[in-house]
Amino acid sequence: MADIIQLLPDHVANQIAAGEVVQRPASVVKELLENAIDAEATKVTLLIKDAGKTLIQVTDNGIGMSTTDARLSFERHATSKIKIAEDLFNLHTKGFRGEALASIAAIAHVELKTKKHETDIGTKICVEGSKVIEQEPSVVPSGTTIAVKNLFYNIPARRNFLKSNPVETRHIIDEFHRVALAHPQVSFTMSHNGASVFNLPESNLRQRIVNIFGNKTNEKLVPVEEETDILKIEGFVMKPDFAKKSRGEQFFFVNDRFIKSAYLNHAIVSAFEGLLKNGYHPGYFLFLNVDPKTIDINIHPTKTEIKFDDEHSMYAMLRSTVKHSLGQFSIAPVLDFNRESSLDTPYDYAKKRAVAPTIDVDRSFNPFKEDAKSKQSNISFPYKREKNTASWESLYVGLEDDISEINGNTNQQITFESEQITGKLFDEENTEVGQVTFQLQNKYIISPIKSGMMVIHQNLAHQRVLYEELLKNITLQQAISQQLLFPLQLHFSRPDMEVLKKVQEQLEHTGFVFETFEEDAVNVSGIPVSLIESQANQVLEQLITDIENEVPDAGFSQNDLLVKSMAKSMAIKSGTRLNKEEQEHLVNQLFLCKEPSVSPSNKPVIVTLDANDMDKKFM
Ligand code: ADP
Ligand code: MG
Repeated sequence: MADIIQLLPDHVANQIAAGEVVQRPASVVKELLENAIDAEATKVTLLIKDAGKTLIQVTDNGIGMSTTDARLSFERHATSKIKIAEDLFNLHTKGFRGEALASIAAIAHVELKTKKHETDIGTKICVEGSKVIEQEPSVVPSGTTIAVKNLFYNIPARRNFLKSNPVETRHIIDEFHRVALAHPQVSFTMSHNGASVFNLPESNLRQRIVNIFGNKTNEKLVPVEEETDILKIEGFVMKPDFAKKSRGEQFFFVNDRFIKSAYLNHAIVSAFEGLLKNGYHPGYFLFLNVDPKTIDINIHPTKTEIKFDDEHSMYAMLRSTVKHSLGQFSIAPVLDFNRESSLDTPYDYAKKRAVAPTIDVDRSFNPFKEDAKSKQSNISFPYKREKNTASWESLYVGLEDDISEINGNTNQQITFESEQITGKLFDEENTEVGQVTFQLQNKYIISPIKSGMMVIHQNLAHQRVLYEELLKNITLQQAISQQLLFPLQLHFSRPDMEVLKKVQEQLEHTGFVFETFEEDAVNVSGIPVSLIESQANQVLEQLITDIENEVPDAGFSQNDLLVKSMAKSMAIKSGTRLNKEEQEHLVNQLFLCKEPSVSPSNKPVIVTLDANDMDKKFM
């Protein structure tokens, strides 16, 4: 029988390898930035066009390459960073596989210009789909520039699979952050479609963090520092009150390499125990330094996971160091997140005039006086005093207006059991079936219907209402906005600002009016009518997160995503008490919707309970 096994041609092997190394433009950015760092650059420039789909270019002032090295750098398994297997256990560079340039050159148009300091003339090489199409001496500055154009030009399936520009840009910025944070002593700039996104001068770590995430970050940072025989920890954690619900700035670096570790993340979370609200995540920038011999970074091709020899000790040390820092900066004991929110001053009352509590003492009162009438009342209501309403009133200090109404009938009120209050509920139950709604557990609106009763999930119902309203506005581009008396300034990190700018136009169609965009803030002078001013920040924050985590659904409409996200964060939450009018209004709005029975995320909004089914339960 004839032999059938063949060696794959290089360009095919490279394309296959590229599948592992290059998933998206951000992977190229990571590889090129890391190569620049490995080349000992002190100044690195990243330039991208169309979220890296058209161009990714990195320029460094590092050691450069000789003509032969430049040519070899595109070969698979060509690396200057390790020579023998043992070197793998003593890595001081980011790269070591010699795969990146070969992979990138297999699936893009690559132009390399490089020159070593000690030579006058450099080299220019162009490679397309693993084929060298041009190589010539070139007068270029010392260092290296690599331009990667038309990524995935020869793999249409890959190219089509790329997500929207904001999403791909977000991934690029993430990679940029990781490298820039790990090397504050190197200056970095990044620009996108000709506009500067980051300009990070050489600095220390704190300054680098602030330069990336905005001035407000400075006050949030708590330093962390510890050194033992096996581990050195430095960096910062974010004060717990700045923890975020959906994501935090969470960065672990091991020997200046960004890593992900659910296990070590857990160590931090447990150090924050008792300081974070449920569902909130701590932010951190932590640098672990260990002997390279004690780790194995070889287990994952994209290299964000590593294996420690002694993971348990790492965990314990990290946890206690962070705990110590939080304690030392007296962040731990003062906070009380478990405070009952119902004790907060209701918004309406905040503006009412406060009056000092007055205490009226009944000087004629004698507890030992044998008086049948007063004795009796003292037993049932020890605080009931004739002409003395102080103790009751002091509970409501500041609510003059509301009290004056009830005060007319002082005596009856003092008993705490006013019929006026409780009686009302029952009166109204006699209303016609169909017009009655009431709220259950501050979560469901119940309404009787002919066949039984209808249970409406208030949060999901409101999401549906807002979704249809916003979607209409955004497609017809006819939103009405409410002008704000005082423009709001909302702060976002720079990458978040990038995302925001990308959806600016759509947001304006929902009713937002943006005055000016600053580096890390946006000034808003109008908001959608159905949005409460105080929610604006949270709604935009959530939107940015949702855009970043966009599900990989081909043909996914950006408008739909945006509107879903906004509807979700603007909707009345479960746990919110609604008065009669609010309940009725919501139900009416819901039934004006095109699809009242399902929420934008496809959950049922209404459940009906049939009277026949109920009958069965009573048999
Ligand atoms: P690796 O980084 O794993 O060695 P790469 O494919 O990324 O593999 O790069 C191959 C080789 O090309 C490197 O080992 C290095 O010698 C050289 N090289 C790549 N980028 C640069 C650069 N910016 N400056 C100098 N040399 C570089
Ligand atoms: Mg490399």
